[in-house]
Amino acid sequence: MKISEFAGYGDKMEQLMRSVQAGRIVHALLLVGPHGSGKRTMARLFAQATVCTGRDKPCGVCPACKRFLNGTHPDIHVISPDKKSIGVDEVRELIDALSLRPYEGVRHIAIIEQAEKLTPQAQNALLKTLESPSGEVMFFLITDAPGALLGTIVSRCQTVRFTDLSVEDCAQVLERRGIDPLRAAELSGMAQGSVGRALEIQADGGYRELRESVLSSLAALKDRASVAGAATPLEAGKGQEGAMLDIMELWARDLMALQSGAAPYQSGEAQRLSRLKIDGGALLKGVVLARKQLASNVSWPNALENMYFHLIETGLNGR
Ligand SMILES: [Zn+2]
Repeated sequence: MKISEFAGYGDKMEQLMRSVQAGRIVHALLLVGPHGSGKRTMARLFAQATVCTGRDKPCGVCPACKRFLNGTHPDIHVISPDKKSIGVDEVRELIDALSLRPYEGVRHIAIIEQAEKLTPQAQNALLKTLESPSGEVMFFLITDAPGALLGTIVSRCQTVRFTDLSVEDCAQVLERRGIDPLRAAELSGMAQGSVGRALEIQADGGYRELRESVLSSLAALKDRASVAGAATPLEAGKGQEGAMLDIMELWARDLMALQSGAAPYQSGEAQRLSRLKIDGGALLKGVVLARKQLASNVSWPNALENMYFHLIETGLNGR
């Protein structure tokens, strides 16, 4: 993948890349945006392109690219927290490593993912380095919660904002990653334009199964007496309430699209959608209601059955 192919952000990042190559160093970038919007991918592409010694950067095959890809490039430092916070010790260790001369190239690149997890002490330690830029280091701070960072940190960084893509752009990105066009359209619809989310769904075989059980549950709704039976298979899915409601929301939006003559996100599913005979608006209202109830501690089985009763009363079209 090339930086210029990065839908929505390629131009901006390519411009930055050219400045860096021309010696106008950008000392610190703050990449801000929702989960799955491409911040992490972009920082990594940029880092790889910076160390790449091939012609068409990042080439993916030169020794520097290979070292980057297997995580052993000595000039690229990534903090990717799997714990609750990034402490001051970890930042000091990073700063020590950055104080050495770059080993292979002309500069170090430091990437801090989930920067909102930096403790206040860690941020203060980092601030000193950000305040006295040495030209040999370029920082990428990545976060979906910039409010958790000190104002002094944010003001030292050049901010690049990421948003989710349109569903169409997202599908194109997926196609370029080798996913076939039909599946790409389906995934980007399910993920509502979040490339990261779409790739997660693609990697997660369980999602398809969950989606099928949500559909057959909705299809089993007929009258008040059918509610318990229709809900039972979904009630066991503890911890998956959110995902099930997301799936229902997507079907609701697609039903609304079809009912107004527009194209659904899941274009391959038009037939199954029309067979559902559920009013999209009523389903969407039901989803919103269920989310509200879950938030105020109604149990999942109760929230689901309330939603289904609501659907029986308002949303079944001629079943
Ligand atoms: Zn290369």
